[in-house]
Amino acid sequence: MSQAPSGEHTQAQQRLRQQQMRMAIAATAVAVALTFIVAYFGFLQMAAAWRFAVLALGSVAVFQLLLRTGLNLRLRDPGMTVPMLVAAGIAISTVAYEGSEARPAFLALYVMAFMFGMYWLDGRRLAQMAGFYVACYGAVVALLLWLRPEATDLKRELFRLGAFAFFLAWFTVHGAYLGRLRGELRGARRQLAQELDAVQTLAYRDPLTGCYNRRHAMAQLEREMRAAGRGTPFTLGMLDLDHFKVVNDTFGHAAGDEVLKAFAHCVDGALRGTDLLARIGGEEFLVIFSATTAPSARAVAERLRERVAALRIPALPEGRGITVSVGIAEHRAGESMEQTLARTDRTLYRAKEEGRDRVVVDGLAAPRAVDLAP
Ligand code: GH3
Ligand code: MG
Ligand code: MG
Repeated sequence: MSQAPSGEHTQAQQRLRQQQMRMAIAATAVAVALTFIVAYFGFLQMAAAWRFAVLALGSVAVFQLLLRTGLNLRLRDPGMTVPMLVAAGIAISTVAYEGSEARPAFLALYVMAFMFGMYWLDGRRLAQMAGFYVACYGAVVALLLWLRPEATDLKRELFRLGAFAFFLAWFTVHGAYLGRLRGELRGARRQLAQELDAVQTLAYRDPLTGCYNRRHAMAQLEREMRAAGRGTPFTLGMLDLDHFKVVNDTFGHAAGDEVLKAFAHCVDGALRGTDLLARIGGEEFLVIFSATTAPSARAVAERLRERVAALRIPALPEGRGITVSVGIAEHRAGESMEQTLARTDRTLYRAKEEGRDRVVVDGLAAPRAVDLAP
């Protein structure tokens, strides 16, 4: 009940991903602009800047398309954070290779991309990503040594690589901590939602039997009264367990509680979807038969009385069952809610007086056996 329907949940997540995507697009635009500035000042070939722009913007466009079409939902990780960071790492590596003088600036681009991971990835994934980025730059250095040994200062590059690895490790530790905080926040939110749900349920349910409480029944009765004003009849049934005190006295209060639970479950199962069962007292229950006249209510009540009499309750010894008395009254035009309730109550007492384990309907003669035959 507390969980939002999964469709709604998915939509909320997609909105969050859209937000993340907008941030990624903005960061990519900034990185591309920076790269062109570097190229403009002659620290990188214009062709390399264009290659980076096409790679970076192209991959972001692909991810955006996946998100917009909802195709990302078919992926194992619909957030696509890891593939996005991998694509960014590869794109950045191309300019890190080309731009000899401006290489430290491109190392900063790796860090910029990595910081996105800090928002979304857990510690393990973040460490893997850090390893991947260090490997990317390591590959750049290896390639430089192989293809352009004359233009490469090995000592300087190894120093950069070491510093880069150190920074990423540092960010990974912080990112892992952030991830734990996020997890705790999620847990706290879930627990709060569950508790809210429990409190809301308590407001209209009886905690012992799980059926509706008096308050909810009265609110429903108000609605029935309004419907009755528009010409839709309703009927009330008051149910009271017979000699329940004896059950408590003989088998204990705990057994009595079990009997109440079994009774409520049994009655609920015998009612129609439109009927409402509420526990309004210790062993007293009210049934609101919505849009129903007394004869139909009697048929339902008679069926549930039989089911209760036949009910086997594990908390009671073999052969020991319970019975219920039911008073039924149909709401009369012009009558107040209290008057209908009082009349139903009086009818219940007639059922008790007439010998219990029976259904008595106010204003209707007792049915002949043929009337009750299914
Ligand atoms: P009658 O057939 O006339 O209705 O007799 P009764 O014994 O059912 O009626 P009475 O009103 O004398 O006793 C009702 C009993 O219900 C007394 C009370 O201890 C018990 N009761 C009320 N609420 C609970 C409950 O929540 N749990 C248990 N186990 N017993 C309850
Ligand atoms: Mg009773
Ligand atoms: Mg009673």
